[in-house]
Amino acid sequence: MHMNPVDYRTLQSVAKPGRYIGGEINEVVKPDHEVHTRFALAFPDTYEIGMSHAGIKILYHTLNSIPGVWAQRVFAPWHDMADALLEGGIGLYSLEEKRPLRLFDVVGFSLLYELSYTTVLRMLKLGGIPLHAAERKSGDPIVVAGGTCTVNPSPILDFFDLIVIGEGEEVVEEMAAVCTKTRDRSERIAAMAEIEGVYRPGADTRPRRRILKNLDSRPFPSRLVLPHVSIVHDRIGIEVARGCTRGCRFCQAGMIYRPYRERSFESVMETLGDALAATGYDTIAMLALSITDLSYINTIMESISCPSREVSIGIPSLRAEGITKKVADFISSVRKPGFTMAPEAATPRLREVINKGNTEEDLFRSLSIIKEMGWKSLKLYFMTGLPTERDEDVEAICTLSRAIAAQFRGNLTISVSGFIPKPFTPFQWQEQIAPRAHEEVIKYLQANLRHRNITLRWQDPSLTFLEGIFSRGDEKLSRVVEAAESAGAYLDGWGDSFNARAWKDAFEKTGIEPLSYLAGRSRDHPLPWEFIDSRVERSFLLGEEQRAMHGSPTSDCRSDGCTGCGVCTGDISNIVYQESAPQPLFHASPGQEPAPYVVGLTKEDELRFISPRDYLEMVKRAIRRSGLKAVYTRGYSPAMKLSMTPPPAFGIASLSEYVQLDLREPLEPAEVLQRLGRCLPKGIRAVSCVQARLGRPYAFVYRTQRPFSLNIEPGQTIEKGGKDLLVSDYLAYYDDSTMTILIRDGRTISPVAILDAFSGDALSAWEVTKVETLFGK
Ligand code: SF4
Repeated sequence: MHMNPVDYRTLQSVAKPGRYIGGEINEVVKPDHEVHTRFALAFPDTYEIGMSHAGIKILYHTLNSIPGVWAQRVFAPWHDMADALLEGGIGLYSLEEKRPLRLFDVVGFSLLYELSYTTVLRMLKLGGIPLHAAERKSGDPIVVAGGTCTVNPSPILDFFDLIVIGEGEEVVEEMAAVCTKTRDRSERIAAMAEIEGVYRPGADTRPRRRILKNLDSRPFPSRLVLPHVSIVHDRIGIEVARGCTRGCRFCQAGMIYRPYRERSFESVMETLGDALAATGYDTIAMLALSITDLSYINTIMESISCPSREVSIGIPSLRAEGITKKVADFISSVRKPGFTMAPEAATPRLREVINKGNTEEDLFRSLSIIKEMGWKSLKLYFMTGLPTERDEDVEAICTLSRAIAAQFRGNLTISVSGFIPKPFTPFQWQEQIAPRAHEEVIKYLQANLRHRNITLRWQDPSLTFLEGIFSRGDEKLSRVVEAAESAGAYLDGWGDSFNARAWKDAFEKTGIEPLSYLAGRSRDHPLPWEFIDSRVERSFLLGEEQRAMHGSPTSDCRSDGCTGCGVCTGDISNIVYQESAPQPLFHASPGQEPAPYVVGLTKEDELRFISPRDYLEMVKRAIRRSGLKAVYTRGYSPAMKLSMTPPPAFGIASLSEYVQLDLREPLEPAEVLQRLGRCLPKGIRAVSCVQARLGRPYAFVYRTQRPFSLNIEPGQTIEKGGKDLLVSDYLAYYDDSTMTILIRDGRTISPVAILDAFSGDALSAWEVTKVETLFGK
């Protein structure tokens, strides 16, 4: 295990230290002598967001499958950790090897959101890498950008040596091959710039968006790294299809991920089976831009339906017309999360403009299905500021929402975001509404959408404003990004982190008028991003814009024939499979008399900084990976039956945790110990197992690393949860390095609280270890 350059004192002082320790299950570690090239997969957002991103999982797996190449993860530290890294002179490091960012061969940033640009700059600064490509020299890493934002890289060209446009899995493999052949930085950059889909800023070339022709040529990874802390999407999220040909005219993903390509049913099923075994997750999500368009949706739903409900299925946002009784039936047969639909516009006219293709009848028909299936909560997405929007379209959001609320009767959330005319969409030349007009719409909706069952949510107009500026920005904006970062902008996508002042100052300092970027654009001149060949023809986009203005529909090329966007050429085309016979992934298991076991576990090293909830989740996943057949609770959402002794306070290590585990299949305790022990992450050991029921603990014994002395007067108290607890009621014994603290009426006191209050030489939590749990007879 590589040493963390950040000490325990620092880890204890920051929020969620589990973000910074690495060593997770399925993390890839390679011996130094076998590695010739190191890639840093840098994600300009926090661990919880980056670890949820499917693209990072694909690239991590692709690169680490290559002998001699080691891809490691680097996420943006939260403000407190960023300050600690700076103050400690430590610098940003990777999770796997704890290697400083500046010592990688290639640092690749995934850019999925324009508001992450200042975070990229801060990460470069923290990593000790010169900000501008022009300032980097031999010995510096090659800094590469990829991800959706690179379809318009103009505002960030100065900061990158190379830009990857399009899908990255083949590109990174080819980059790794270049690194195998040469060590010289300039030679590497020159050779990488020759790869299809790679652009070298300043070069007089027309880079073409890279497309992976057949997703089955690269099965989705199954050995997913299991996060230490709960993340945004804590589940097996498997990409079942890429691209969409519905042709919604506002949707950038629908244009820049064409053509539509499915993974085969067999490939998806194989990955799912492997991923369940490799991770121990109990939630599966199928990822696609429009999941109900999957040709084998019914087959796969039947196949992954878990009769015991021990594994749940997540379904992302659905098109209203995609909800058939069968789909709703399936979703309700698994767990019942909130249902989400995206009508986007509230009037038939505006839906025709955006080519949404669904009608109010579709919406109400779907509504009655989900209501009948017992859903209690529904979320609807709308946009404001769409081309040709009139007052009546905004008013209609209120009328339609109220009509839906009246029929649905459950909790209805209306989520409204501002339209951004994105590059390479038919609306790329259109005007974006100014923040003030956007705010007016929100105020109107707040005033007119008052209903006891409706909750209105909206995206901050300032964020939409900035996203719009940078989406359609030019090279001048790189100065603004730099000035904003210098003024303190960092992790801008987080509401509590957004620094509006820094952005205002940055625009003023650089003399750039932000509102000018919202204006409609001339169709007679190239746009700042049109030096890129997105493969979607400009004439198609112009034609679609015209059709929008006339409210003319454009059909789905999958079902109604090619509509001439220009993407499909040679062997690039839509890939759609047929329905096949279902292959059940789960089987009902016969019930047996449960056998109870008490397993002794530890919580050591950096895992002392993991919350009790995350610790318990780690243990549950280890049990599932081990193949031990745990007993689940009954009811609609079964949960693994697992009870444990009260966990130690944050930062305290433990050699004495106990869990009660009931198994449906009786085994020798030694086998339970061995099977579970093999599957636990570093920092947790299984140290004992007996066939018994967990007793009631009455005290814990703690040992400290350094000796301490206490000065406690009779009658002294410690405040806990609003109550003053008499210390003498709890502290049963102490000497200069141990303490025995009682549990009374389900309450106990932390040894750190006692040390803090009564020791002349206060110790930190990380210097304390729970060494024994005393059970009553
Ligand atoms: S080229 Fe034709 S078939 Fe291919 S994605 Fe475009 S519209 Fe569809």
